[in-house]
Amino acid sequence: MKKIKEITKGKAKSMYTTEVDDQLIMHFSDDTSAFDGKKKEALLGKGAVNNQFNAFIMSHLKENGIDTHLIEVINSTDSLVYKLDMFPIECVIRNRASGSICRRLGTEDGLVLENPLFEFFLKDDDLGDPLINDEHIISFNWANMKQILEMKKQTYKVNEILSKLFIDSGLILVDFKVEFGVFNGKILLADEFTPDGCRLWDSKTLKKMDKDRFRQGLGDVVESYHQVADRLGMNIKT
Ligand code: ADP
Ligand code: UDP
Repeated sequence: MKKIKEITKGKAKSMYTTEVDDQLIMHFSDDTSAFDGKKKEALLGKGAVNNQFNAFIMSHLKENGIDTHLIEVINSTDSLVYKLDMFPIECVIRNRASGSICRRLGTEDGLVLENPLFEFFLKDDDLGDPLINDEHIISFNWANMKQILEMKKQTYKVNEILSKLFIDSGLILVDFKVEFGVFNGKILLADEFTPDGCRLWDSKTLKKMDKDRFRQGLGDVVESYHQVADRLGMNIKT
């Protein structure tokens, strides 16, 4: 499958049309951004590790009953996916408090939450991706109630499956963000699941192994992503 035309260039990925109408090539670049695009840097090799990391996780989710947009990996940085109508929404689950919830609620970093906490955010960098709830989504017609319930159900299921996968490799899944879209009337998990969009801490030392290394200037960002991949038994081609 060949790339024909770049249709979107986001902060970390580009989407290309292909010879097949409803299939896109998703290219993972080395570009890394934080704080709604205000901090940017190219980190050599990040695109390759994220593409293969994403494929490993999406395949594991599929084996465990989650339908995803992934068709196949094409090369080290690119994957073929179904073209979806994306919801302009981010679904976040937190097992521990970290990041924006600590700023919002004054909570200590790492506080273990009584229950996994689900939050919706609007995908809008100019507005700083504001927190929204079911009522906003219905009132602004970003999704209907059936779709809201389905996205929540799928996200909780992703949390269960991946929390187990990571803890078995000595990693705590602190929180993560996923996105969904519609393909032929069905809701599919889309976009990516990589250390760019989740928080992973070493379960013994609580060392941060995810994009917080970039956000907080801790260094060894791509190296940490590789260490996570190694622990999960992935064979990343650079
Ligand atoms: P951002 O939009 O945050 O800058 P990216 O750089 O990751 O993010 O760009 C990828 C874009 O492609 C996102 O807007 C995402 O919602 C969209 N996308 C992800 N998967 C699909 C898909 N299967 N079909 C259509 N669009 C998708
Ligand atoms: N996240 C993401 N993209 C976003 C916002 C958040 O992938 O645009 C991820 C982030 O990496 C973390 C989780 O979602 O794993 C929760 O993020 P949070 O709301 O704490 O925001 P942050 O402080 O990370 O910007």
